[in-house]
Amino acid sequence: MRIRLLGTAAAEGWPGLFCRCEACARARALGGRNLRSRSGATVDGGFQFDLGPDVYLHVLAGYTDLAAVEHLLVTHGHEDHLAPATLAMRREPFAHGLPAPLTIYGNHRVMERVRAAVADPSALGVRLETVRPFQSFTAGDATVIPLPADHDPNEACLLYLFGRGGRWLLYGHDSGWFPEPTWDYLAAWAARHHRLDVALVDCTNGPAPGQRNHMGLEAASRVRQRLIAIGAAGDETRVVVTHFSHNGGLLHEELVARAAPVGLEVAYDGLEIVLD
Ligand SMILES: [Zn+2]
Ligand SMILES: [Zn+2]
Ligand SMILES: [Zn+2]
Repeated sequence: MRIRLLGTAAAEGWPGLFCRCEACARARALGGRNLRSRSGATVDGGFQFDLGPDVYLHVLAGYTDLAAVEHLLVTHGHEDHLAPATLAMRREPFAHGLPAPLTIYGNHRVMERVRAAVADPSALGVRLETVRPFQSFTAGDATVIPLPADHDPNEACLLYLFGRGGRWLLYGHDSGWFPEPTWDYLAAWAARHHRLDVALVDCTNGPAPGQRNHMGLEAASRVRQRLIAIGAAGDETRVVVTHFSHNGGLLHEELVARAAPVGLEVAYDGLEIVLD
């Protein structure tokens, strides 16, 4: 399994689109891993999590080949995770040569937003599949289980447990501390001799406290500890924190200095995680 982080920022990006704060000024000055676009990830090229407003930047950087993505797993309908007007470019004269047929999985809100942006998804080679928490499904040769997130009470925001080729990824944002039914599911899943290879965990708040709707380093560290306690993760599991807001203030290396001692890795745009 090959996981590629597309973007690693919260909704405003980092530097924030209109922001004049110190954290954004430092990110602009330092560049590199301190520049964060809106979040998403691909797995093995054919699978993508979320289609945010910075996807063209991700295409330019070579992080994703959108024409090759066949399965798009959308976590929720917030603007920073779903920019559905992008899909209108999947046809002549904007795109030559048929892109791979695309299935979009998500909650009702996601489907509403896609339908509002593109009148006839099937004319774009797009199939819509509404998915529900705890109802496992197959996406190509991957097994996917949507799990409830703690994020926005106005829609059924989802985390995804994603398995392919014997490897397992937990796509764990946007979310606060996972709801108890999600923990119960993960514990039962682990009891059936499953274990995560990688967990991507929400760290919007950075060093700041709080674990409702989003998390920070402290809560993400406790997520790792609980995953280990229930047997869903081991010391070898890579727990990677992502979706950072400038309001956290810590730049990349400062985050690394706090995350590494508690067993967390810090994501950056373009990070590639390769599992043999
Ligand atoms: Zn977000
Ligand atoms: Zn800022
Ligand atoms: Zn969100």
